[in-house]
Amino acid sequence: MSAMNRRAALLAGASLAATVFATPRRALAQAAAPTGPFTLPPLPYAFGANEPHIDAQTMEIHHDRHHAAYVANINAAVKDHSQVAAMPLEQILAKLGEMPESIRPALRNNGGGHANHTMFWQVMGGKGGAPTGDLATAVTRDLGGLDKLKADFNGVGTRVFGSGWVFVTTDAVGKLALVARPNQDTPLMEGQRVLFGNDVWEHAYYLKHQNRRPAYLEAWWNVVDWAKVAERYAAAKAGSLKL
Ligand code: MN
Repeated sequence: MSAMNRRAALLAGASLAATVFATPRRALAQAAAPTGPFTLPPLPYAFGANEPHIDAQTMEIHHDRHHAAYVANINAAVKDHSQVAAMPLEQILAKLGEMPESIRPALRNNGGGHANHTMFWQVMGGKGGAPTGDLATAVTRDLGGLDKLKADFNGVGTRVFGSGWVFVTTDAVGKLALVARPNQDTPLMEGQRVLFGNDVWEHAYYLKHQNRRPAYLEAWWNVVDWAKVAERYAAAKAGSLKL
């Protein structure tokens, strides 16, 4: 990219970000929908559904502004790349190295952000507790049981430097693994499937927990929807889990 093009792209990005953050929520949702192949999925519960562990204002800003911005930005990135625009997101992420170099960072950051948050909303809105059935069996077999999983997951999440995610992945036969990734990277980039994960960017918890990321990680288990996680587990084993 030439210096002029880079400058124009930076200015366009800054302008888009300013628009996204300055636009009222309702107008943003209406404006974001028709602009490209990727769309912001509606939050599947009320903003306050995860209170008191995650406050309603954090959920609203996180979904309506942060996630909406990732969607707007990936739509902008693929605007002049019709072949990429026609691809499912999980394929774009799994084949990042084959994507046009000029938009590869935008696809990685915003495509990853879109995929990660789409998963994230799905696995919350619950009441915590414990997994059941073959998911519980797999947690015990592969991760040492729920108590050990929580301790290890919280430890890995605490040690993510800066911004990132902690995930439990599953392969096609249902073997689970605990991994962390920086920024908006996702195991989808290695062709793996994400069973569930937690966002440890400060925007996910700062209004309520400030700098106390360990407290947020601990509280987050109270809003996990294990029935939804079990659905994702079954879908992964059936080969139908995409994001
Ligand atoms: Mn986030």
